[in-house]
Amino acid sequence: MAIINCPFCGKKASDKSAACGSCGGKLGEMTAEELSRLQRDKKMAEGRNLNNQAMMSLVLFLGSFAWYYQRQPETASLELYGVQSAMFIGCAWYLVTKVRIVLYKRK
Ligand SMILES: [Zn+2]
Repeated sequence: MAIINCPFCGKKASDKSAACGSCGGKLGEMTAEELSRLQRDKKMAEGRNLNNQAMMSLVLFLGSFAWYYQRQPETASLELYGVQSAMFIGCAWYLVTKVRIVLYKRK
C-alpha cells in the first residue's frame, strides 16, 4: 500500500482505498498508471499557471514603468500613486511567482 496525493483534491490518500477520505473522489476505479498521469497533468497545469502569472506580473510591472516614463505623472497626484502601486504590485507579484517556480521545480 502506498500513500498518494489524491488527484482530485491533492490531499493524502491510500492508493488501495476505493475513494478518497477527504473529498470522496473515486480512486478505486483508476489504475496506478491513470493516477500518476492525472498527478502529472496536474503538476504541469500548475507549472503553466505559474509561468502565466510570471508573465502577467512582468507585463504589469513593465507596463506601469512605461506609463510612468511616458506620462510623467505629477508629484503627489492620484495618477502617480496608482502607477507606483501598479509597479510595486507587479514587482512583488513577479518575485513571489519566481520563488514559487523554484519551489515547484524542486518538488
Ligand atoms: Zn480527494
